Amino acid sequence: GRCVVAVDGPSGSGKSTVSRRLASALGAQYLDTGAMYRAVTWAVLRYGVDLADLEGITKVAGELDLAIGTDPVAPHVRADGVDVDADIRGPEVTAAVSAVAAVPAVRQLLVGQQRALIEAAGRIVVEGRDIGAVVAPDADLKVYLTASADARAKRRSLETAASVDDTHADLLRRDTLDSTRAADPLQQAADAVVLDTTAMGIDEAVARLRAMVTA
Ligand code: C5P
Repeated sequence: GRCVVAVDGPSGSGKSTVSRRLASALGAQYLDTGAMYRAVTWAVLRYGVDLADLEGITKVAGELDLAIGTDPVAPHVRADGVDVDADIRGPEVTAAVSAVAAVPAVRQLLVGQQRALIEAAGRIVVEGRDIGAVVAPDADLKVYLTASADARAKRRSLETAASVDDTHADLLRRDTLDSTRAADPLQQAADAVVLDTTAMGIDEAVARLRAMVTA
C-alpha cells in the first residue's frame, strides 16, 4: 500500500545511502530532491546565468526538461536530455547549489514536481531538507538524520576525494547558507524522529527505520 517516508538532514548525515537502502528494503521508489536542485544549478551554470540574476535562474528552471529516475538501485538524472549524474556532484555545482535553491520560484517549481512524483509512486522514500515540513507534511514517517560535523566531513571526503579539512569548511558553509536563507529555510518537521548516525553504521540506521515503518 501507500507509504511515504520523508528523510531530511544535512549533507554527510548518511541521508542518501540510508534512504536508498531503506527504499530497496521496503520495495519502494526513491527520490533524491537534492539531485533536482543540483540539476537546475547545472543548467544555470551551463547557460551562463549569473547567480545574482533571480529572473534568469527562474527562467532556466522553468524551461528545463528535468527527468529523474526513482529506482533505488539505479537513480539517475537527465537535464535537457543530458546525463548529469556525475556533473551534478562536482565542485562547481556543489559551490552554487545553495544560492539556486534559495530562489523562491525554483523551490515552488521543484516542490510541485516532487509532490507529483510522490503521488505517482505511492510507495516512496524521499530525501531532502524540507520534505517532512513542506513537500510531504502528511508522510507516514518523518526522519531527521544527523551526525557530528567531523563525522559528516569524513564521510563526504571519502565520496569526493577532497580533503577532510576542505570538506569540513564546505559543509559548514552550506549548512549556514541553507539554514539562514530568507525564503523557506531548512526545516526540521516538529514530528520528525531524530536519528544521530555519528556512531552508527548504515545497517543499523536502516534496520531501525525499517522497524519504525512496519511498527
Ligand atoms: O542533499 P544534497 O547535498 O545533494 O543537496 C544539495 C543542496 O540542495 C543543499 O545544500 C540545499 O541547498 C539544496 N536542497 C534544498 N532542498 C531540498 C534538497 C536540497 O534546498 N529538499
